[in-house]
Amino acid sequence: MSRPARALVDTQALRHNLQQVRKFAPASKVMSVIKANGYGHGINRVAAALIASDAFAVTSVEEGIQLRESGFWQPICLLSGFFEPEELLLLDAYALSPVIHHEEQLQQLEAHKRQAVLDIWLKIDTGMYRVGFPWQSLAKILPRLQACRAVRTIRLLSHFADADNPGSEATRKQIDDFTKAVAGTELESSLANSAGVVAWPASHLDWVRPGIMLYGTTPVAGKTARELGLQPVMTLETRLMAVQWRNKGDAIGYGGDWVCPEAMPVGVAAIGYGDGYPRHAKSGTPVLVGGQRVSLIGRVSMDMITLDLRARPEAKPGDRVVLWGGNLPVEEIARAAETISYELFCHVTGRVPFVEVNG
Ligand SMILES: *Cc1c(COP(=O)(O)O)cnc(C)c1O
Repeated sequence: MSRPARALVDTQALRHNLQQVRKFAPASKVMSVIKANGYGHGINRVAAALIASDAFAVTSVEEGIQLRESGFWQPICLLSGFFEPEELLLLDAYALSPVIHHEEQLQQLEAHKRQAVLDIWLKIDTGMYRVGFPWQSLAKILPRLQACRAVRTIRLLSHFADADNPGSEATRKQIDDFTKAVAGTELESSLANSAGVVAWPASHLDWVRPGIMLYGTTPVAGKTARELGLQPVMTLETRLMAVQWRNKGDAIGYGGDWVCPEAMPVGVAAIGYGDGYPRHAKSGTPVLVGGQRVSLIGRVSMDMITLDLRARPEAKPGDRVVLWGGNLPVEEIARAAETISYELFCHVTGRVPFVEVNG
């Protein structure tokens, strides 16, 4: 038998989560964000499952071309825009819609003399302070874009900095400033990420841009994915490869950080940071063995982790081990490793086989 670590991707859950987005924002079109290889789930399988989206968003022209060459015909937005003027020809050839977010890009568009037909998203900054034209400058920027031969349609977008925080004043101000900036332009606009979809209805506007909620993770503090009706998409699983009875005082694994307080069964599961399980997961991080919660103990190795099996002494090699997914919310693992679910998903490594399941 081969090494049992693998990631299951539930395409039915992806479809369900898209329907939840539509329930939260029934009047908006949905641009499903599938950047970074579909948040680590595999961009083609995610796009196929989310085929009912009104558009897709990715980061780069490479991802856009991959989708086009796989046959996806939906509008595709490139969230980072283009990096070099040479890419403009590719954007035209593959019908990819770039975000325009800084002066150099605008100048390159103005200088682009070849006939091109681009639908662009103009990014305006309302308080993220990362990229985008300041919202106050919109009246100056728009006429320049409208004068570009290569530009066919213009839409407006801005991005939230703090929407996962329910009472956020900064978010309220971003919504106000964006709404003010958009008013009178008669252009389509978009502000909401997943947190906006769930918690800020005033941000829904013409287009919503959900990412993380499509993968079944809660986008807001204080509400679980289950409470929001979201279903987990990825299950990271493996099997027990050894179970050993240890003595009181035995120090488990590298550095011997974790010492057995009594004679006890210790399991070894075939997964480690070489697979993308977070090395910083603390002792006590929950893991499911045969569907039952046990605790990670000791340091995470490259290929193995060690488990306190006192809660499941009957466990034996070959038993199924779930690291996240199903009844074990990835949010709990992220918290124990002091990171976010986005990063855990993106870090599953190339040696882990991905398997599609349907429900
Ligand atoms: C990644 C991204 C999103 C999606 O954010 P989530 O928090 O995953 O919903 C939306 N808009 C932009 C511009 C992004 O970069």
